[in-house]
Amino acid sequence: MNLAVVDLSKNAIKISKIDERDEKELIGGKGIATKLLMNLPPKIDSLSPENAIIFAVGPANAFRLSGASRMTAVFKSPLTGGFGESQCGGFAPHEMALTGIHFLMITGKSEKPVYIAVENGSVEIKDASHLWGLDTFETERILKKDEGGEVISIGQAGENLVRFACITHRKGRQFGRAGGGAVLGSKKVKAIVFKGDGKSKTSSEFEEFLKDKVISNLSALQNYGTPNIMWVVNKAKSLPSLYWNESEFDTEDIDAEAMLKYFVRKNACFACRVACGRISRVENSEVEGPEYETLFAFGTLLGNRDLESIIKANELADRFGIDTITAGNVIGFAIKLSKLGKIDERIEFGEGEKFVELIRKIAFREGIGDLLAEGVARMEKKTGVEGVHVNGLEPPAYDPRGLFGVALAYSTSPRGACHMRSCAYRPNLAGLLDRYSPEGQARLVKELEDFYAVVDSLVYCRFLTLPQIGMGWEDVARLLEITTGRRYEIEKLKKIGHKIHTMAWEFNRREGIGYGKPPSKFFDRNLSREDYEKMLKEYIRLRDAES
Ligand code: SF4
Repeated sequence: MNLAVVDLSKNAIKISKIDERDEKELIGGKGIATKLLMNLPPKIDSLSPENAIIFAVGPANAFRLSGASRMTAVFKSPLTGGFGESQCGGFAPHEMALTGIHFLMITGKSEKPVYIAVENGSVEIKDASHLWGLDTFETERILKKDEGGEVISIGQAGENLVRFACITHRKGRQFGRAGGGAVLGSKKVKAIVFKGDGKSKTSSEFEEFLKDKVISNLSALQNYGTPNIMWVVNKAKSLPSLYWNESEFDTEDIDAEAMLKYFVRKNACFACRVACGRISRVENSEVEGPEYETLFAFGTLLGNRDLESIIKANELADRFGIDTITAGNVIGFAIKLSKLGKIDERIEFGEGEKFVELIRKIAFREGIGDLLAEGVARMEKKTGVEGVHVNGLEPPAYDPRGLFGVALAYSTSPRGACHMRSCAYRPNLAGLLDRYSPEGQARLVKELEDFYAVVDSLVYCRFLTLPQIGMGWEDVARLLEITTGRRYEIEKLKKIGHKIHTMAWEFNRREGIGYGKPPSKFFDRNLSREDYEKMLKEYIRLRDAES
């Protein structure tokens, strides 16, 4: 595997080989990218030239397989000040794998706007003055016309250093969380183009296995996309609503059935048979989604039953390049601040059209948008009112008061309140263990974190690796053997997962960040501080026993 380091301050590009021991011990993707990130000096400003963002693929991504077009990005987060990571699907991951550059580390800062072209083992820095100020849809359209290949880009939010700016690909696929778009914006990088002539590899045997044993379990995802999750979570009274005041919502107007009215067509990442994406349209707005997380963020969390306004807000967030989960949370917190008279604006639950306008204000840091663009933790500091976040990251659509494992997972994820590092919500919802009990949660969260550290190093889609219904350790080991020729024992893979997860935490610790402290809101019903502490203590014991 090859690494390209682009130093924008020096206008220098260096290409080298990844150490074979690292390929063996850290697999690729997140594992190796995290090791590279550890080269940053501690305590740097996330928006300074010293920060780096590393885009990475792994052994699976050159393969034409369902779920295999996936890549990761790691960086110091401008939102949390800690370990930032985000994954994206679509077509760019497979294309990047075919370029022969598997790790692209961007550091320094350019004086003028640039984009980076990665093509068949070479990397070029190109002028992007004509693209600065454009949204992601327009940027991608122009670059695809001029360059071809696959494009990832930032919108105005990234340019304006909105701390939760994301990086957009093909209009609806995102490196969503933790502010990677602001890191690119701080370096004046508008976009990256991947063009690879490498040959896609195949394994018809493994694709058959995926079709028969994994994808056959995902019919709800195939039929309805991620919005189908809303029914399950709401029934379990774990759907955060009205800015974390409620855990259930009347979803009839915004659920997967309601979305059918706006449905245009299905969409898929490269070569994926699941095709979980849904394109929706309202008036002039066309969007991939809204995904479950966005229906929560712009819907239930804001008491909003107006699906058309959710679709419009979703489209603007994608165009401007804004993480919808954090955006919904900052607007929800603004409603709370408005009620308390801490801000001048009057914002109420259910004001769908106003939320659409707030997305624009956030992207351009206009008026109240400038405060919201800082994220909940900084809003807290400015107003003295407690919001909802863990280690600076605003939580997604799984209420920990009804899913105890999720409460622990929000604290132990290296990027803050995150549902993706362990997917602990799923075994909790599926009844694998009592979701209102601390028993067994620590072991579950730890094992899943280690598993996904390996999955994110492969790099592979979550939906095909979901607990109980997706690929497990044996399947991952088999895929690794197919893609690398190396046979890994399961115990060895588990150790690798632990090592990668621990390395991400080492990054946090040198920044002065420890396991997250849940907001007091999480303890206002069902979950007690004692139960939470019990889970955390057991989790620390399990991690320490392995270190
Ligand atoms: S399941 Fe969905 S997100 Fe995953 S690879 Fe397939 S289309 Fe992409």
